[in-house]
Amino acid sequence: MELHGFNRFTLLDYPGHMACTIFTGHCNFRCPFCQNASLVLEPESQPLLPPGEILATLKKRRGILEGVCVTGGEPTLQPGLESLLWRIRNMGYLVKLDTNGFLPDVLEHLMRKGLVNYIAMDLKNSRMRYPETTGIPGLDPSPIDRSIRLLMEEAPSLGIEYEFRTTVVRELHTPHDLEEAGEWIRGAKAWYLQAFRDSGTLIGSGLTGYDADSLHAMAALIRPYADRTGLRGVD
Ligand code: SF4
Repeated sequence: MELHGFNRFTLLDYPGHMACTIFTGHCNFRCPFCQNASLVLEPESQPLLPPGEILATLKKRRGILEGVCVTGGEPTLQPGLESLLWRIRNMGYLVKLDTNGFLPDVLEHLMRKGLVNYIAMDLKNSRMRYPETTGIPGLDPSPIDRSIRLLMEEAPSLGIEYEFRTTVVRELHTPHDLEEAGEWIRGAKAWYLQAFRDSGTLIGSGLTGYDADSLHAMAALIRPYADRTGLRGVD
C-alpha cells in the first residue's frame, strides 16, 4: 500500500464528521486540472509513509476522530486497499472513499464487504467529454456507467452514503455539458460542483475557473438532477 500523505485533522473532507485524510499515489487518469500532479505523475518521487505509523496514530485518536477519508491519486488502484480499510473499520472508524469510479469491480467489492460508509465519486463531465477531461484520448467511459449505477442503485440499500462531484473548468465545462452530465445521474442523492483554482502545480496548463456569478448560475442549473446539490469552493 503506497501512502504518500496524512492530514491528521479535517472538518472539510468528510461531511458532518471530524476526520483525517490519507493520500495514496498513482492514478489511471491525467485530468489536466488535477491539483495532485506529483502524486499522479511521479508518485515514486514522493516520500512513503509507513501504514503502521498511520494506523498507530489512528488507534490513539479513537474517540477524538470519527472518520477516515482515503483519497489520492486513485485509491482503488492500490492492491492493499481492502486490507487497510479492514483495519480502519475494525478500529471503529467511518470510512469515506474518494474515487474517479473507473474501477467499478473494486468499488463493488468494497461496498459489499461493508468497508466504506461514504463514497465521493468524480463525475468529470458529460459522457462525450470524458476523454479530454480525464486527459486520456479515446477513453471509453463505460466503467463510469457501471459505477454510477452501483452508487445510485445499490449504495442506499447497503447503507452507504454517496455524492457525485464535478470540478468546473471554463475550458472543459459549458452549462450544456453540465446538463448532459446531469442527465447521466438524474435522480442521484447528491451532486456538488467544485470551483476550479489553479494551484500552480497542475497536470495541464492554460486552464481558468469561472467567476462566482457563473458558478452560482451553474449550481442553479444542476438542481433538478439530484436531491441535494451545491457549490463548493466559492465564498
Ligand atoms: S483529478 Fe484526475 S488525475 Fe487527479 S487524482 Fe483525480 S482522477 Fe486522478
